[in-house]
Amino acid sequence: MREQLHKLCEQYGCRLETDVKLSQHTTFRIGGTADFWAEITCIEGMQALLRFCREEGIPYFVLGKGSNVLASDDGYHGVILHLGNAFSEISVSGTTMTCQAGAGLGAAARIAAEHGLTGMETLSGIPGTIGGALYMNAGAYGGEMKDVVTSCEYLTAEGELRTMKLAEMELSYRHSIFAENNAVILTVTLELQEGDKAVIHSRMEELLIQRKTKQPLEYPSAGSTFKRPAGSYASLLIDQCGLKGRAVGDAQVSEKHCGFVINKGNATCAQVIQLCDEVRTVVQEQTGYVLELEPILLG
Ligand SMILES: Cc1cc2nc3c(=O)[nH]c(=O)nc-3n(C[C@H](O)[C@H](O)[C@H](O)COP(=O)(O)OP(=O)(O)OC[C@H]3O[C@@H](n4cnc5c(N)ncnc54)[C@H](O)[C@@H]3O)c2cc1C
Repeated sequence: MREQLHKLCEQYGCRLETDVKLSQHTTFRIGGTADFWAEITCIEGMQALLRFCREEGIPYFVLGKGSNVLASDDGYHGVILHLGNAFSEISVSGTTMTCQAGAGLGAAARIAAEHGLTGMETLSGIPGTIGGALYMNAGAYGGEMKDVVTSCEYLTAEGELRTMKLAEMELSYRHSIFAENNAVILTVTLELQEGDKAVIHSRMEELLIQRKTKQPLEYPSAGSTFKRPAGSYASLLIDQCGLKGRAVGDAQVSEKHCGFVINKGNATCAQVIQLCDEVRTVVQEQTGYVLELEPILLG
């Protein structure tokens, strides 16, 4: 299998690495070793790898910037498919922006701003790729991907190239159809509006300062650890329950923002999970709210 994977990657110019530390590819800085890491350079390469994994029954996982992933200490026994630099183009035509899935959300927001296009400001500080943002329907400060996306190009789990319109994406709070269909998002089309460059830039700057002031960006994390429960806020409930600063090993409920579990140095996935279990139990006992993990578990 190893041989065949190498051959396939070589044939399509994709780089294949073995035994890759996931801790180096996730913003939590947590995770064991992935058996294979394929840096995808073309659609045909992705199609071939998807088909190969499917035929051979090999698990695969599409990883963006790893900013909403909690990777197992035992690693991943399968192939990580990474859309790297070869999938990071962004183009603008009028008010329409087309972004390849590996492009950064921040880069897309900056390019929109340079073109005097408004709509991406609230998303600009989210540290993921466009593909990851669509998968998660990422959002902040009252805006979400759902507000700007119009369509996307993707590969089905069978490797077929298709297009999907916004209405079919089932975008809701931190959810999309891509969580269910094992598809690979390749390109995302956004519709923005003409705006004032200076106003757009200053709003982005203002929101970035707000993030830096309120969020523990000085520590590795996966952003908000729990989804917002209907009718309240995870951070508020956690704070009310006296869980600020609670720790298991190097995993800690941030003292700066209770909605974040941070890695204070050498936290393991097991420690994060144990801490999250404790938080969920206490919050449910004391408030009745059930908290749900936001990051995607890998491995
Ligand atoms: C400090 C910090 C702040 C954050 N703030 C916010 C915030 O304000 N709002 C918010 O919504 N999120 C926030 N996040 C979480 C995270 O940045 C977003 O969810 C982001 O959209 C994830 O993108 P990614 O490229 O890192 O995806 P990854 O974490 O790599 O992957 C997330 C999921 O998307 C899937 N995926 C990724 N790319 C593709 C693709 N091309 N095709 C199919 N599936 C794909 C993966 O398989 C995985 O299931 C924050 C995270 C951090 C660390």
